Amino acid sequence: MLDVLRKIVQEVNAAPDLDAVLDLIVRRIQRATRTQVCSVYLLDEEQHFCLMATQGLNPAAIGRVRLPPGKGIVGMVADRAEPINLEDATVHPSYRFLKDTGEEKFHAFLGVPIIHQRAVLGVLVVQQQERRRFDESEEAFLVTLSAQLAGVIAHAEATGSIIRSAQNSQKGRDKRFQGVSGASGVAVGHAVVMAPRADLRAVPDKVARDIAQELQQFDQALASVRRDIKVVGRSLSRHLRSEEQALFDVYLRILDDNALAGEIHQRIELGSWAQGALRDVIQEHVRMFSAMEDPYLRERASDIRDLGRRILAYLQESHPVELEFHDNTILIAEELSPAMLGEVPTEKLSGLVSVYGSGNSHAAILARSMGIPTVMGVVDLPYTKMDGRELILDGYSGCLYVNPSEELSEAYREILRGEEEEAVELATLRDLPAETLDGYRMPLWVNTGLVADVVRSLERGAEGIGLYRTEIPFMIRDFFPSEQEQTQTYRRQLEAFHPRPVTMRTLDIGGDKALPYFPINEENPFLGWRGIRVTLDHPEIFLLQVRAMLRAAEGLNNLRIMLPMVTSVHEVDAACLMIDQAIDELRDDGYVIERPQIGVMVEVPAAVYQVRRFARRVDFISVGSNDLTQYLLAVDRNNPRVANLYAPYHPSVLRALDYIAREAHKEDGIQVSICGEIAAEPAGALLLMAMGYDVLSMNATNLPRIKSVIRKVTLEQARELHRQVRHMDDADKIQQMLYDTLAQWGLAQLSRPDMPDPRQGQS
Ligand code: PEP
Ligand code: MG
Repeated sequence: MLDVLRKIVQEVNAAPDLDAVLDLIVRRIQRATRTQVCSVYLLDEEQHFCLMATQGLNPAAIGRVRLPPGKGIVGMVADRAEPINLEDATVHPSYRFLKDTGEEKFHAFLGVPIIHQRAVLGVLVVQQQERRRFDESEEAFLVTLSAQLAGVIAHAEATGSIIRSAQNSQKGRDKRFQGVSGASGVAVGHAVVMAPRADLRAVPDKVARDIAQELQQFDQALASVRRDIKVVGRSLSRHLRSEEQALFDVYLRILDDNALAGEIHQRIELGSWAQGALRDVIQEHVRMFSAMEDPYLRERASDIRDLGRRILAYLQESHPVELEFHDNTILIAEELSPAMLGEVPTEKLSGLVSVYGSGNSHAAILARSMGIPTVMGVVDLPYTKMDGRELILDGYSGCLYVNPSEELSEAYREILRGEEEEAVELATLRDLPAETLDGYRMPLWVNTGLVADVVRSLERGAEGIGLYRTEIPFMIRDFFPSEQEQTQTYRRQLEAFHPRPVTMRTLDIGGDKALPYFPINEENPFLGWRGIRVTLDHPEIFLLQVRAMLRAAEGLNNLRIMLPMVTSVHEVDAACLMIDQAIDELRDDGYVIERPQIGVMVEVPAAVYQVRRFARRVDFISVGSNDLTQYLLAVDRNNPRVANLYAPYHPSVLRALDYIAREAHKEDGIQVSICGEIAAEPAGALLLMAMGYDVLSMNATNLPRIKSVIRKVTLEQARELHRQVRHMDDADKIQQMLYDTLAQWGLAQLSRPDMPDPRQGQS
């Protein structure tokens, strides 16, 4: 059964659209379960369950039979969100006779809900003439299939509705796709899809501008591939046996096959550009061959895929895609890279979307530093269908709206206008202190990584660097930078900020931050070899980096060194010992080195409860609340599927933050700072100030806004807010209360913009 299941899922996954997906599902399930009927009912836009596909009922009823919510046994399955298995459905009180379907002769009924991300999308039904209960294994099979297919159905539905709304229908507007925030801000614009080279899956839909030219280019590409294969075949002929040599003939025959080239021609003639036509035909043939029972024929699927890639490479060469950038371009890529950002003129780039990747990807880091609203990890987005479409990108909540309605676009344009006005106003604060109305001074520092961040940070009035992510200069290279190179990079940050303090974090790799030249492959990287654990195991890397930092600070003496991902005091002791060793060695070499301040990052729950012990050993404590939230809540900070559970205002997180500040301050002279994203949120900043944090460190983009908020309240108001929060026990309610209170104080504009509520749910 497992085999059948896998095969059905595989086939359905490869189907091109919703109709094909549903048709395959009913045909395959009917055959696998040996029933007489298999049907799929899906919830339509009017919230009725509509018969979308059937094998066994009257096909004329497809699209016609619609059940109002809660009606019939199908409605009951959906309401209860659990399977219903009946020996004779016709005698059940909820049975509703569906005219014209021919279902009256079927008695046995098994219906299972199709559920994606908690929402019931529809119901999968099998029926049989005889009166009998489906057995447990049949029920389990159907439940398993339904769970596995729900994602594919949701994806196909989303794609379908996007296509429908492009045909000017009101339906399918405001389609929402959830990802994670890469950089805050909003953008309203048009999509430009940037595809990686020779990747058939990533070829976007486009209309041919000149059909004759597309046909000619395709024929040339085909001839080039044919020639290449002959050349390779001939050059290898001396080394191959005749049966291996025959493989090249098979290749050539596939290309000779009139069907393949002919079908591509037909599609181009219907108006598709050559690359799109090639993609569709190749994918269809790959699907067909993959589904074959015969293993030899199944293998041909990979030959066809390979040939498709080769033809595509030639097409791309002869037809370099000249992307047209609109004034408000929202760039979409399957995997956004820093190089791709560089291809769009900066003045036209409004937003960025990456189907894969996280808030820590290079591109997201770069986007934050450039202040471009970005959404990462929108895994359900059918991005190849997006080119030229209207989009709204919400970089605060990490979501994307496709084909937005005029009301939603206008609401977001209003937010944009507000942000522009606000930026002008905030620029005037640059040289003013972050001081509350009752005179409490809150130092605001920045988080940096790239050289470009330094300039922006200074422009925005940063008083120090609370976190310099040193792994970033390591990530954008092909090998470990030398001591000399590191010294120069660090010197630039130290000099630019001098005499203000610069907190350099020692190399924090692992988790999702990989170096291309130092791969770490682990089952569970966030609980694995990360941060200080790596560098303590590689003293040569740690010592070299610390030496570079110390040398860079010679004569400037504004360096602070910070240790990431610390779990135990012995890690701090070992790191301090190595730092002292580096200082001694450099002094022996004649450098004039001052011992820098050393700090520990509190990022894991174990560190929370030892914070006082750390405080006795070092000069400062800095909370990495991004990771601390992830570990306290056991929610991967980069996984869009659980993004709604990643709650910075969760009572446990707030309690931990409060505890850390109080405990650390029990040790004299200890500075407690925070460098996670919560410090860059207006409400978060006020709560942290009330908790007694000495420094808030944040991205340069948000710093002026936080300064403005602090200047508009009193310390007592912030403390009262914190007292209220302490009595609450629900993250959502806390967040709502914070927003409402800030709005009452006239800070609604400065706090997170109130996002419009789209009419449609998630994809
Ligand atoms: C954090 O975890 O809060 C932090 C500041 O470090 P990073 O985001 O670089 O992991
Ligand atoms: Mg961290």
